[in-house]
Amino acid sequence: MIIKPRIRGFLCTTAHPAGCALEVDQQINYVKAQGRIENGPRRVLIIGASGGYGLATRITAAFGGGAETLGVFFERPAEGNRTASPGWYKSAAFTERARAEGLYAANFAGDAFSESSKQRVIEEIRSHMGQVDMVVYSLAAGARTLPDGSLVRSALKPVGEPFSGATIDLNSGEMREVSLEPASPEEVADTVRVMGGEDWELWIAALLKAGVLAPGCITTNYTYLGSEVTWPIYHHGTIGKAKEDLDRAARALKAPLSELGGAAYVCVMKGLMTQAASAIPGMSLYLSLLFKVMKEQGKHEDCIEQTTRLFTSRLFAGGDVLVDEAGRVRLDDWELTDRVQDYVRQHWHEVNGDNLDTLTDFSGYKQAFLSMHGFVDGVDEEADVIADVPMDVITVPEQR
Ligand code: NAD
Repeated sequence: MIIKPRIRGFLCTTAHPAGCALEVDQQINYVKAQGRIENGPRRVLIIGASGGYGLATRITAAFGGGAETLGVFFERPAEGNRTASPGWYKSAAFTERARAEGLYAANFAGDAFSESSKQRVIEEIRSHMGQVDMVVYSLAAGARTLPDGSLVRSALKPVGEPFSGATIDLNSGEMREVSLEPASPEEVADTVRVMGGEDWELWIAALLKAGVLAPGCITTNYTYLGSEVTWPIYHHGTIGKAKEDLDRAARALKAPLSELGGAAYVCVMKGLMTQAASAIPGMSLYLSLLFKVMKEQGKHEDCIEQTTRLFTSRLFAGGDVLVDEAGRVRLDDWELTDRVQDYVRQHWHEVNGDNLDTLTDFSGYKQAFLSMHGFVDGVDEEADVIADVPMDVITVPEQR
């Protein structure tokens, strides 16, 4: 099959297997070049392991610290003339590379919110690892089936006041205004149920009950605070309310985990192009400005640089983990410097179709979007490739 990018709105409906594998190789090479992570966890469960921050954490743990990994994700294989999803190809490449280095790597394709996924993962931990030293919760989901079987959806909306802002069309590079009415109280509550801390707590409770968390086990969950220019839609919006709930959950997890000598951390990461981020209204403009100024300052990072810095300079640096006054681990320190934010604030309302390419790095933003789907330099998009890439994966049947 000849595979080219097919972009619809903020989605690309195709992915390139060779490019996705190359992306994984580049991340592995980066991690290896940083040297061995001596005090890292040996057995890691990653919930949401196939994209963005979750995949990068898996790569850092495995190729930096030699960890055995268990990854849970929601991805689809190729079928007929449809390519697999990027996370399928990347997880297949990760698994092959990890096993080639003698590292245990198991994959679960299924709904992480379901009780059956939790129980199936516990079975696997018991039979192959005994226990885990770290649980990384890195889900970004649009909907969740609750334990009672009902479905709730998250909404990306402002709270209290309407939002209007500029967005950039990925295909044409045209800028247009988006306006959103404030979320209803139900939409806020539903977004918290999908993207808040409840399912993280359910996972930890199930793992604790099963006795599969090792002494000293830590668990992390990723959050975003970002710049004040995005607060109306992010930090003060429905997703921000869900992220607030992570702080609540981390506090609630403190007592049960401290019995094991463990801890729960909310880690504040940098704004980056991932599948989840590309769906947030207004993020395209913010990230294009951010990429421009951070690249110019030599401070641009991708997911893999962020997760490797998280391991080496925060979680496993030795001694107490450095946290802010709210108890969060901060990896957004470079993004939030005045030198970066002054640039963003100064140009936020100035960007238009004429100066998009000079004031922002929209081309870098678009390239990051294409790379996320495997359309990277070094991949021959004219080549006839086999889209059906097998992966050793445990499929967890849907719970009904
Ligand atoms: P992503 O879209 O790249 O990855 C999401 C992961 O969740 C994928 O592995 C996907 O398969 C999995 N997933 C989604 N629904 C699932 C389900 N029902 N069952 C099993 N797996 C499921 O997203 P990301 O940007 O890496 O987001 C991960 C976390 O990082 C989120 O909490 C996000 O808010 C946070 N974060 C992201 C950014 C950013 O700029 N991208 C910044 C800071 C924090």
